[in-house]
Amino acid sequence: MTDDAAPTVDPEETIDLLQELVRTPSPYFEEAEICEFVYDWLDARGHDPEYHHVSEPDITEYEGDNVVARLAGSDPDAPSLLLNAHVDTVKLVEDWEEDPCSGRIEGGKLYGQGACDMKGGLAAVMTAFDALADVPLAGDVLLTAVVDEEGPYGLGTDRLIRDGYTDDCDAAVVTEPGPILAQSDVENPALLLGARGRFLYDIEVRGHAAHGSQPEKGVNAVVEAGELAAALNDIETGDHPRLGSGSVCPLQIEGGSQTLSVPERARLMVDRHVVVGETMEDARADAERVVAELDLQSDVEIGFREAPDPDIVYGPYVTDEKHPLVTALADAARAVADTDPDYGYFSSVGDFNYLGDRADLPTVIVGPDGENIHGAGEFVYTDEVVEVADIVADAAVRFCG
Ligand SMILES: [Zn+2]
Repeated sequence: MTDDAAPTVDPEETIDLLQELVRTPSPYFEEAEICEFVYDWLDARGHDPEYHHVSEPDITEYEGDNVVARLAGSDPDAPSLLLNAHVDTVKLVEDWEEDPCSGRIEGGKLYGQGACDMKGGLAAVMTAFDALADVPLAGDVLLTAVVDEEGPYGLGTDRLIRDGYTDDCDAAVVTEPGPILAQSDVENPALLLGARGRFLYDIEVRGHAAHGSQPEKGVNAVVEAGELAAALNDIETGDHPRLGSGSVCPLQIEGGSQTLSVPERARLMVDRHVVVGETMEDARADAERVVAELDLQSDVEIGFREAPDPDIVYGPYVTDEKHPLVTALADAARAVADTDPDYGYFSSVGDFNYLGDRADLPTVIVGPDGENIHGAGEFVYTDEVVEVADIVADAAVRFCG
Protein backbone atom coordinates (compact mmCIF):
# COMPACT_ATOMS: atom_id res chain seq x y z
CA MET A 1 0.00 0.00 0.00
CA THR A 2 1.45 3.33 -1.02
CA ASP A 3 0.90 6.46 1.01
CA ASP A 4 -1.32 8.17 -1.53
CA ALA A 5 -3.64 5.13 -1.42
CA ALA A 6 -3.97 5.30 2.35
CA PRO A 7 -7.35 6.48 3.60
CA THR A 8 -7.16 9.34 6.10
CA VAL A 9 -9.64 9.52 8.94
CA ASP A 10 -9.97 12.92 10.61
CA PRO A 11 -9.88 12.29 14.41
CA GLU A 12 -11.64 15.52 15.31
CA GLU A 13 -14.43 14.96 12.81
CA THR A 14 -14.88 11.42 14.13
CA ILE A 15 -15.34 12.58 17.73
CA ASP A 16 -17.59 15.49 16.71
CA LEU A 17 -19.73 13.01 14.80
CA LEU A 18 -19.82 10.64 17.78
CA GLN A 19 -20.92 13.47 20.03
CA GLU A 20 -23.78 14.34 17.68
CA LEU A 21 -24.83 10.70 17.46
CA VAL A 22 -24.89 10.40 21.26
CA ARG A 23 -26.87 13.64 21.54
CA THR A 24 -29.55 12.12 19.32
CA PRO A 25 -31.53 9.72 21.52
CA SER A 26 -32.24 6.45 19.70
CA PRO A 27 -33.66 3.71 21.91
CA TYR A 28 -34.76 0.74 19.78
CA PHE A 29 -37.99 1.26 17.87
CA GLU A 30 -37.43 5.06 18.11
CA GLU A 31 -34.68 5.54 15.56
CA ALA A 32 -36.27 7.85 12.96
CA GLU A 33 -34.31 10.94 14.04
CA ILE A 34 -30.90 9.28 14.14
CA CYS A 35 -31.50 7.54 10.81
CA GLU A 36 -32.24 10.90 9.23
CA PHE A 37 -29.09 12.29 10.79
CA VAL A 38 -26.96 9.43 9.40
CA TYR A 39 -28.62 9.75 6.00
CA ASP A 40 -27.99 13.51 5.86
CA TRP A 41 -24.39 13.13 7.01
CA LEU A 42 -23.68 10.66 4.21
CA ASP A 43 -25.69 12.64 1.68
CA ALA A 44 -23.80 15.87 2.47
CA ARG A 45 -20.57 14.05 1.65
CA GLY A 46 -21.86 12.81 -1.68
CA HIS A 47 -22.25 9.13 -0.78
CA ASP A 48 -25.73 8.71 -2.24
CA PRO A 49 -27.27 6.89 0.76
CA GLU A 50 -30.63 5.12 0.63
CA TYR A 51 -33.25 4.28 3.19
CA HIS A 52 -33.96 0.56 3.38
CA HIS A 53 -37.37 -0.03 4.86
CA VAL A 54 -37.85 -2.44 7.76
CA SER A 55 -41.37 -3.56 8.55
CA GLU A 56 -42.58 -6.19 11.00
CA PRO A 57 -46.37 -6.00 11.17
CA ASP A 58 -47.17 -9.19 13.10
CA ILE A 59 -45.58 -9.09 16.55
CA THR A 60 -43.88 -5.72 17.09
CA GLU A 61 -45.75 -3.64 14.46
CA TYR A 62 -42.42 -1.96 13.82
CA GLU A 63 -41.80 0.34 10.86
CA GLY A 64 -38.38 1.93 10.40
CA ASP A 65 -35.45 2.35 8.04
CA ASN A 66 -31.87 1.20 7.83
CA VAL A 67 -29.48 3.58 6.08
CA VAL A 68 -27.29 1.99 3.42
CA ALA A 69 -24.52 3.40 1.24
CA ARG A 70 -22.12 1.78 -1.21
CA LEU A 71 -18.66 2.63 -2.50
CA ALA A 72 -18.50 0.86 -5.86
CA GLY A 73 -15.17 -0.78 -6.57
CA SER A 74 -13.54 -0.95 -9.99
CA ASP A 75 -13.48 -4.76 -10.27
CA PRO A 76 -16.70 -6.77 -9.87
CA ASP A 77 -14.65 -9.88 -9.05
CA ALA A 78 -12.70 -8.28 -6.20
CA PRO A 79 -13.72 -9.05 -2.60
CA SER A 80 -16.44 -6.82 -1.21
CA LEU A 81 -16.79 -5.84 2.42
CA LEU A 82 -19.86 -5.15 4.56
CA LEU A 83 -19.53 -2.65 7.41
CA ASN A 84 -22.31 -3.01 9.96
CA ALA A 85 -23.24 -0.89 12.97
CA HIS A 86 -26.54 -0.47 14.78
CA VAL A 87 -27.93 3.02 15.38
CA ASP A 88 -30.23 2.10 18.27
CA THR A 89 -29.50 1.84 21.98
CA VAL A 90 -31.23 0.21 24.90
CA LYS A 91 -34.03 2.24 26.49
CA LEU A 92 -32.52 5.18 28.41
CA VAL A 93 -31.91 4.03 31.97
CA GLU A 94 -33.12 6.20 34.82
CA ASP A 95 -30.21 6.35 37.22
CA TRP A 96 -27.98 8.66 35.18
CA GLU A 97 -26.74 11.55 37.29
CA GLU A 98 -26.56 13.72 34.18
CA ASP A 99 -28.32 13.98 30.83
CA PRO A 100 -28.03 10.42 29.44
CA CYS A 101 -27.40 11.95 26.01
CA SER A 102 -24.85 14.58 27.06
CA GLY A 103 -21.93 13.38 24.97
CA ARG A 104 -19.73 14.95 27.64
CA ILE A 105 -16.01 14.32 27.16
CA GLU A 106 -13.73 14.15 30.16
CA GLY A 107 -10.37 12.45 30.54
CA GLY A 108 -10.60 10.79 27.13
CA LYS A 109 -14.03 9.30 27.86
CA LEU A 110 -17.22 10.27 26.05
CA TYR A 111 -20.35 9.66 28.12
CA GLY A 112 -23.90 8.82 27.06
CA GLN A 113 -26.38 5.99 26.60
CA GLY A 114 -25.11 3.97 23.69
CA ALA A 115 -21.76 5.80 23.57
CA CYS A 116 -19.95 2.47 23.66
CA ASP A 117 -22.78 0.18 22.45
CA MET A 118 -22.38 1.23 19.79
CA LYS A 119 -22.33 4.82 18.66
CA GLY A 120 -18.53 4.79 18.99
CA GLY A 121 -18.43 1.95 16.47
CA LEU A 122 -21.04 3.67 14.30
CA ALA A 123 -19.02 6.90 14.17
CA ALA A 124 -15.93 4.83 13.35
CA VAL A 125 -17.49 3.05 10.34
CA MET A 126 -19.04 6.29 9.07
CA THR A 127 -15.75 8.23 9.01
CA ALA A 128 -13.86 5.16 7.76
CA PHE A 129 -16.38 4.87 4.91
CA ASP A 130 -16.03 8.57 4.13
CA ALA A 131 -12.23 8.28 4.07
CA LEU A 132 -12.42 5.22 1.79
CA ALA A 133 -14.29 7.27 -0.82
CA ASP A 134 -11.04 9.13 -1.50
CA VAL A 135 -8.95 6.06 -2.38
CA PRO A 136 -9.20 3.65 -5.32
CA LEU A 137 -10.87 0.36 -4.34
CA ALA A 138 -11.23 -2.78 -6.43
CA GLY A 139 -14.05 -4.34 -4.41
CA ASP A 140 -17.21 -2.71 -3.06
CA VAL A 141 -17.62 -1.41 0.48
CA LEU A 142 -21.20 -1.50 1.74
CA LEU A 143 -22.05 0.57 4.81
CA THR A 144 -25.14 -0.56 6.73
CA ALA A 145 -26.38 1.53 9.66
CA VAL A 146 -29.14 -0.64 11.01
CA VAL A 147 -32.12 -0.26 13.32
CA ASP A 148 -33.41 -2.46 16.12
CA GLU A 149 -30.37 -4.46 17.14
CA GLU A 150 -31.17 -4.02 20.83
CA GLY A 151 -34.83 -4.91 20.30
CA PRO A 152 -36.13 -8.43 20.52
CA TYR A 153 -35.43 -9.69 17.00
CA GLY A 154 -32.62 -7.70 15.35
CA LEU A 155 -35.06 -6.63 12.66
CA GLY A 156 -32.71 -4.23 10.82
CA THR A 157 -29.98 -6.71 9.93
CA ASP A 158 -32.58 -9.45 9.51
CA ARG A 159 -34.19 -7.38 6.75
CA LEU A 160 -30.83 -6.69 5.06
CA ILE A 161 -30.28 -10.42 4.76
CA ARG A 162 -33.82 -11.11 3.54
CA ASP A 163 -33.59 -8.40 0.90
CA GLY A 164 -30.31 -9.73 -0.46
CA TYR A 165 -27.93 -6.98 0.66
CA THR A 166 -25.48 -9.54 2.03
CA ASP A 167 -25.58 -11.81 -1.05
CA ASP A 168 -22.74 -10.10 -2.90
CA CYS A 169 -20.59 -9.45 0.18
CA ASP A 170 -17.60 -11.62 0.95
CA ALA A 171 -17.05 -10.71 4.60
CA ALA A 172 -18.34 -8.43 7.33
CA VAL A 173 -16.94 -6.14 10.01
CA VAL A 174 -19.17 -5.25 12.96
CA THR A 175 -17.85 -2.50 15.22
CA GLU A 176 -19.61 -3.57 18.43
CA PRO A 177 -17.63 -2.80 21.60
CA GLY A 178 -14.92 -5.43 21.62
CA PRO A 179 -12.91 -6.14 24.76
CA ILE A 180 -15.61 -5.42 27.32
CA LEU A 181 -17.92 -8.03 25.80
CA ALA A 182 -15.24 -10.62 25.04
CA GLN A 183 -15.24 -14.02 26.75
CA SER A 184 -11.62 -13.66 27.77
CA ASP A 185 -9.33 -10.83 28.78
CA VAL A 186 -8.32 -9.03 25.61
CA GLU A 187 -7.16 -5.50 24.93
CA ASN A 188 -7.61 -3.32 21.89
CA PRO A 189 -6.74 -3.66 19.16
CA ALA A 190 -8.74 -6.90 19.50
CA LEU A 191 -10.37 -9.00 16.82
CA LEU A 192 -13.34 -11.09 17.97
CA LEU A 193 -13.72 -14.01 15.60
CA GLY A 194 -17.00 -15.58 16.63
CA ALA A 195 -19.81 -15.84 19.08
CA ARG A 196 -21.98 -18.43 20.74
CA GLY A 197 -25.61 -18.68 19.70
CA ARG A 198 -28.69 -18.38 21.82
CA PHE A 199 -32.17 -19.92 21.96
CA LEU A 200 -35.01 -19.09 24.29
CA TYR A 201 -37.60 -21.69 25.09
CA ASP A 202 -40.59 -22.15 27.35
CA ILE A 203 -41.71 -25.25 29.13
CA GLU A 204 -45.43 -25.37 29.89
CA VAL A 205 -46.13 -27.53 32.90
CA ARG A 206 -49.73 -28.62 33.43
CA GLY A 207 -50.42 -30.45 36.66
CA HIS A 208 -53.67 -31.30 38.28
CA ALA A 209 -55.60 -29.07 40.68
CA ALA A 210 -56.88 -30.34 44.00
CA HIS A 211 -57.79 -28.83 47.35
CA GLY A 212 -54.69 -27.22 48.84
CA SER A 213 -55.18 -28.99 52.15
CA GLN A 214 -54.77 -32.31 50.34
CA PRO A 215 -51.83 -31.77 47.99
CA GLU A 216 -51.37 -35.51 47.55
CA LYS A 217 -54.58 -35.56 45.54
CA GLY A 218 -53.22 -33.14 42.91
CA VAL A 219 -50.13 -32.67 40.78
CA ASN A 220 -48.33 -29.47 41.71
CA ALA A 221 -47.15 -27.72 38.53
CA VAL A 222 -45.04 -25.18 40.47
CA VAL A 223 -43.08 -27.90 42.25
CA GLU A 224 -42.50 -29.83 39.04
CA ALA A 225 -41.43 -26.68 37.16
CA GLY A 226 -38.94 -26.08 39.97
CA GLU A 227 -37.58 -29.62 39.63
CA LEU A 228 -37.22 -29.05 35.91
CA ALA A 229 -35.37 -25.76 36.42
CA ALA A 230 -32.93 -27.40 38.83
CA ALA A 231 -32.33 -30.35 36.52
CA LEU A 232 -31.82 -28.16 33.45
CA ASN A 233 -29.39 -26.03 35.42
CA ASP A 234 -27.16 -29.09 35.83
CA ILE A 235 -27.09 -30.51 32.31
CA GLU A 236 -23.93 -30.94 30.29
CA THR A 237 -23.78 -28.82 27.16
CA GLY A 238 -21.54 -28.88 24.12
CA ASP A 239 -17.94 -27.68 24.04
CA HIS A 240 -16.02 -25.91 21.33
CA PRO A 241 -12.26 -25.33 21.22
CA ARG A 242 -12.73 -21.59 20.63
CA LEU A 243 -16.20 -20.70 21.84
CA GLY A 244 -15.96 -22.61 25.12
CA SER A 245 -19.07 -24.31 26.50
CA GLY A 246 -22.73 -23.85 25.92
CA SER A 247 -24.81 -22.92 28.95
CA VAL A 248 -28.31 -23.20 30.32
CA CYS A 249 -29.95 -20.57 32.49
CA PRO A 250 -33.53 -21.00 33.72
CA LEU A 251 -34.77 -17.41 33.59
CA GLN A 252 -38.27 -17.30 34.96
CA ILE A 253 -41.02 -19.40 36.48
CA GLU A 254 -44.49 -18.03 36.38
CA GLY A 255 -47.84 -19.53 37.23
CA GLY A 256 -49.31 -21.04 40.32
CA SER A 257 -52.30 -20.34 42.46
CA GLN A 258 -53.09 -17.85 45.19
CA THR A 259 -56.06 -19.66 46.61
CA LEU A 260 -56.37 -22.88 48.50
CA SER A 261 -55.64 -25.00 45.46
CA VAL A 262 -52.78 -27.10 44.22
CA PRO A 263 -51.41 -25.05 41.28
CA GLU A 264 -52.26 -26.68 38.01
CA ARG A 265 -50.12 -24.53 35.71
CA ALA A 266 -46.61 -23.12 35.56
CA ARG A 267 -44.35 -21.90 32.81
CA LEU A 268 -40.58 -22.05 32.87
CA MET A 269 -38.53 -19.84 30.55
CA VAL A 270 -35.05 -21.05 29.71
CA ASP A 271 -32.07 -19.36 28.08
CA ARG A 272 -29.79 -21.73 26.22
CA HIS A 273 -26.47 -20.56 24.80
CA VAL A 274 -24.98 -22.94 22.25
CA VAL A 275 -21.63 -23.43 20.53
CA VAL A 276 -20.94 -24.41 16.92
CA GLY A 277 -22.21 -27.96 16.45
CA GLU A 278 -25.28 -27.52 18.68
CA THR A 279 -28.58 -26.83 16.96
CA MET A 280 -32.02 -25.83 18.14
CA GLU A 281 -32.99 -29.50 17.75
CA ASP A 282 -30.16 -30.45 20.12
CA ALA A 283 -31.37 -27.91 22.66
CA ARG A 284 -34.88 -29.32 22.36
CA ALA A 285 -33.59 -32.91 22.67
CA ASP A 286 -31.64 -31.99 25.84
CA ALA A 287 -34.76 -30.50 27.39
CA GLU A 288 -36.87 -33.52 26.37
CA ARG A 289 -34.32 -35.88 27.90
CA VAL A 290 -34.43 -33.99 31.19
CA VAL A 291 -38.22 -34.11 31.19
CA ALA A 292 -38.20 -37.85 30.51
CA GLU A 293 -35.59 -38.59 33.19
CA LEU A 294 -37.54 -36.72 35.86
CA ASP A 295 -40.61 -38.81 35.23
CA LEU A 296 -42.94 -35.94 36.12
CA GLN A 297 -46.65 -36.37 36.64
CA SER A 298 -47.50 -33.13 34.85
CA ASP A 299 -48.06 -32.80 31.13
CA VAL A 300 -45.07 -30.95 29.75
CA GLU A 301 -44.74 -29.10 26.46
CA ILE A 302 -41.58 -27.44 25.16
CA GLY A 303 -41.97 -24.44 22.87
CA PHE A 304 -39.41 -22.15 21.27
CA ARG A 305 -39.95 -18.42 21.32
CA GLU A 306 -42.37 -17.11 18.76
CA ALA A 307 -40.45 -15.02 16.21
CA PRO A 308 -41.72 -13.05 13.23
CA ASP A 309 -40.07 -15.70 11.06
CA PRO A 310 -38.50 -19.11 11.71
CA ASP A 311 -35.24 -17.83 10.15
CA ILE A 312 -34.81 -15.37 13.01
CA VAL A 313 -32.34 -17.44 14.99
CA TYR A 314 -29.13 -16.41 16.76
CA GLY A 315 -26.89 -19.25 15.63
CA PRO A 316 -23.24 -19.61 16.68
CA TYR A 317 -20.34 -18.99 14.29
CA VAL A 318 -16.57 -18.93 14.14
CA THR A 319 -14.46 -17.09 11.58
CA ASP A 320 -11.20 -18.72 10.50
CA GLU A 321 -8.12 -16.94 11.86
CA LYS A 322 -6.52 -17.29 8.42
CA HIS A 323 -9.39 -15.69 6.52
CA PRO A 324 -8.17 -12.76 4.37
CA LEU A 325 -10.36 -10.32 6.33
CA VAL A 326 -8.72 -11.38 9.60
CA THR A 327 -5.28 -11.03 8.05
CA ALA A 328 -6.22 -7.61 6.64
CA LEU A 329 -7.48 -6.43 10.04
CA ALA A 330 -4.40 -7.79 11.82
CA ASP A 331 -2.08 -6.05 9.35
CA ALA A 332 -4.14 -2.87 9.74
CA ALA A 333 -3.92 -3.10 13.55
CA ARG A 334 -0.13 -3.40 13.28
CA ALA A 335 0.05 -0.46 10.87
CA VAL A 336 -2.25 1.77 12.94
CA ALA A 337 -1.51 0.76 16.53
CA ASP A 338 1.99 -0.64 16.06
CA THR A 339 1.12 -3.86 17.89
CA ASP A 340 -0.24 -7.33 17.19
CA PRO A 341 -3.96 -7.61 17.85
CA ASP A 342 -5.45 -9.81 20.55
CA TYR A 343 -7.92 -12.46 19.43
CA GLY A 344 -11.08 -13.41 21.25
CA TYR A 345 -14.72 -14.43 21.02
CA PHE A 346 -17.84 -12.52 21.93
CA SER A 347 -19.76 -13.52 25.04
CA SER A 348 -23.28 -12.66 23.96
CA VAL A 349 -25.37 -12.56 20.79
CA GLY A 350 -26.19 -9.81 18.32
CA ASP A 351 -26.52 -8.92 14.66
CA PHE A 352 -23.10 -10.49 14.06
CA ASN A 353 -24.74 -13.90 14.61
CA TYR A 354 -27.08 -13.18 11.71
CA LEU A 355 -24.14 -12.18 9.51
CA GLY A 356 -21.78 -14.94 10.65
CA ASP A 357 -24.32 -17.75 10.79
CA ARG A 358 -27.43 -16.99 8.72
CA ALA A 359 -25.72 -14.98 5.95
CA ASP A 360 -22.66 -17.24 6.26
CA LEU A 361 -20.24 -14.31 5.98
CA PRO A 362 -16.85 -14.50 7.67
CA THR A 363 -17.52 -11.87 10.34
CA VAL A 364 -15.15 -10.04 12.67
CA ILE A 365 -16.05 -7.74 15.54
CA VAL A 366 -13.58 -4.93 16.16
CA GLY A 367 -14.77 -2.01 18.25
CA PRO A 368 -13.82 0.64 20.78
CA ASP A 369 -13.81 -0.24 24.47
CA GLY A 370 -15.58 1.51 27.32
CA GLU A 371 -17.57 0.74 30.47
CA ASN A 372 -21.09 0.56 31.92
CA ILE A 373 -22.65 -0.73 28.71
CA HIS A 374 -26.47 -0.64 28.83
CA GLY A 375 -26.27 1.15 32.20
CA ALA A 376 -25.91 4.60 33.72
CA GLY A 377 -22.49 6.16 33.24
CA GLU A 378 -21.85 4.39 29.93
CA PHE A 379 -18.78 5.77 28.18
CA VAL A 380 -16.43 5.01 25.32
CA TYR A 381 -12.72 5.81 25.03
CA THR A 382 -12.45 8.46 22.32
CA ASP A 383 -8.94 7.48 21.20
CA GLU A 384 -10.16 3.92 20.59
CA VAL A 385 -13.02 5.18 18.42
CA VAL A 386 -10.48 6.91 16.18
CA GLU A 387 -8.18 3.88 16.25
CA VAL A 388 -11.02 1.58 15.17
CA ALA A 389 -11.94 3.96 12.32
CA ASP A 390 -8.30 3.91 11.16
CA ILE A 391 -8.07 0.11 11.42
CA VAL A 392 -11.34 -0.46 9.53
CA ALA A 393 -10.38 1.97 6.75
CA ASP A 394 -6.89 0.52 6.42
CA ALA A 395 -8.19 -3.08 6.49
CA ALA A 396 -10.85 -2.34 3.86
CA VAL A 397 -8.15 -1.20 1.42
CA ARG A 398 -6.12 -4.34 2.11
CA PHE A 399 -9.15 -6.65 1.81
CA CYS A 400 -10.93 -5.06 -1.15
CA GLY A 401 -7.67 -4.38 -3.04
ZN1 LIG B 1 -24.60 -3.48 20.45
